[in-house]
Amino acid sequence: MKVRFWGVRGFVPTPHEAMLRYGGNTCCTAVTGDHGELIVLDTGTGFCMLGDELMQGEFGRGRGTLTLLISHTYWDHILGLPFPGVVHIPGNRLDIYGPDSTRGSLQMVYDGILSPVYSPVYGLAHIGATHRFTTISTEPFTIGRLTVRALPLSRHSHSPIWAYRLEEDSRVLVYMTDVRYNEDRIWKQAIAFTRNAHVLIHSAPYLRDEPVEDYGHSRIEDAIEVAQQAGVERLFIFHHAPTRTDDELDAIAARFRAQLAAQGSSLSFAIAAEGMELLV
Ligand SMILES: [Zn+2]
Repeated sequence: MKVRFWGVRGFVPTPHEAMLRYGGNTCCTAVTGDHGELIVLDTGTGFCMLGDELMQGEFGRGRGTLTLLISHTYWDHILGLPFPGVVHIPGNRLDIYGPDSTRGSLQMVYDGILSPVYSPVYGLAHIGATHRFTTISTEPFTIGRLTVRALPLSRHSHSPIWAYRLEEDSRVLVYMTDVRYNEDRIWKQAIAFTRNAHVLIHSAPYLRDEPVEDYGHSRIEDAIEVAQQAGVERLFIFHHAPTRTDDELDAIAARFRAQLAAQGSSLSFAIAAEGMELLV
């Protein structure tokens, strides 16, 4: 699997010059399988940039198929979907998986952000691409030769949050975002789900010693703990706080790398940046 980060910021886009190196677009990560399967994890504003690039290939000719795995429906994870041209070209196909909310289905939420109140598109029925929504469950399924497993890590009763585990041959990638480790059960589930992943992409906008309003987000130390206990090889932190500058993120990376080296830990630690690519 090949991974590319298209948006790594949490909460709100930050097009600020002190943040451009890590990037200001919100959550969007693309995974390409070894046989060409294209999977997108969340459609924050980073999805607009990905869509532009896809226009150069089959999607520009209305012959592309895209699988979207949506963790939950807060703005920073969905808002990029309506904008790229690929979504409006007839012949393209979108397979969208994610959780329903207590206020309506996943399809209703996406239809809502395209409603006349917010958009001139006037609803999902008017986008050109064929689209199919599937409510996610814990039943594993396949996309091409990849196996997808999903785990509910609910924090908000109205907008449940799910994590995804992608497996191709013996390689494993786990994507986990907006987790609040406030219960022993969540720790155990997250560690079991992440077990022996080669790569863990984990949101962590804060540090444990920061006095922040807790809307249910994890700290970098939490993500490291999960990664270490699960036997993960490489950890990538994303969903950076909108106030965090590039220099601050550099300092955080250096601090935790030094800490892990001092512990003799084999865990590789990195801070995800827009445009960064890696092989799983
Ligand atoms: Zn988020």
